[in-house]
Amino acid sequence: MATVMTLNGEVRGEDLGVVDYHEHLAFDAPEWLLKEDPDFALNNPEKSAEELTTFVHAGGRTIIDMTAIDFGRNIAKMQRVGELVPQAHIIAITGYNKPYFCDPSVFETPDADLIKDCISDIVDGIDGTSVRAAIVKGGSGYNTMNQQDRKLLRVAAKVHLETGVPIITHTEGGTMGFEQVEYLVSHGVKPERICLSHMDRNPDFWEHRRITQSGAYVGYDCPGKTKYGPDEYRNSVLRKMIDEGQGNRILLGNDLGRPSYWRSYGGGPGLDFVLTKYIPRLKAELFNHAAIDDLLINNPRRFLTGE
Ligand SMILES: [Zn+2]
Repeated sequence: MATVMTLNGEVRGEDLGVVDYHEHLAFDAPEWLLKEDPDFALNNPEKSAEELTTFVHAGGRTIIDMTAIDFGRNIAKMQRVGELVPQAHIIAITGYNKPYFCDPSVFETPDADLIKDCISDIVDGIDGTSVRAAIVKGGSGYNTMNQQDRKLLRVAAKVHLETGVPIITHTEGGTMGFEQVEYLVSHGVKPERICLSHMDRNPDFWEHRRITQSGAYVGYDCPGKTKYGPDEYRNSVLRKMIDEGQGNRILLGNDLGRPSYWRSYGGGPGLDFVLTKYIPRLKAELFNHAAIDDLLINNPRRFLTGE
């Protein structure tokens, strides 16, 4: 029976239920980043737990906290959120988001040392806790695949090959997705173990289809975040993808990595937006219910368990 590691131990694939594949529950962004952009102070476990409860009440069951090492992952805060909302399965990750967030020391450290640290997060536990990561992250910048981008992706590839955990990447504005897959595959990763985040920031059907036809997954995580384009854009790509038989290669989340996205911190659309507003809209737009179940339940289960 295929299982996935969560904050509360292993969960069977069939018990993951409705999954939000890309979130950030509570973390401590690097000091320099907070000075540059105070809207990364998503750091209050009690407020986060209050809103995670709305996700659970809306039928949500599993959340992947995609906060990477360089973005200020704080496992104690994540654990506190989990204690307050024990009904939610929370999955932690290891690895790096993108070169821009990384401390310069990352690029002075040999690959082997970074790989060792990430593997330890998966095998031993994160930061001295017993919480084990179940995913590894890598990423690249806007339209770049430079030495630094390649280093983060290469580390993710090696960690995946050693441990078997799947890879979820960051793409900047949905760019370089296909190139990320090519690079990871050239390091021995099977496409079906790769998911690319933020692809609906670049709602380009031709690009999405060539990625999913390789076997990799595309992540849509901007519903309701109109600054990244109206939902009409992502829904028209989504419709074409489903019509072309690619609906089993899409993961859905909301990537609410800023307090201004959370109602409990005074913003919106809120952590239950996908389930209470976006999914009803898909139904109103006559998206097939089986296709919606694939997005919420079947695709993430298959991706996470590797079944
Ligand atoms: Zn994110």
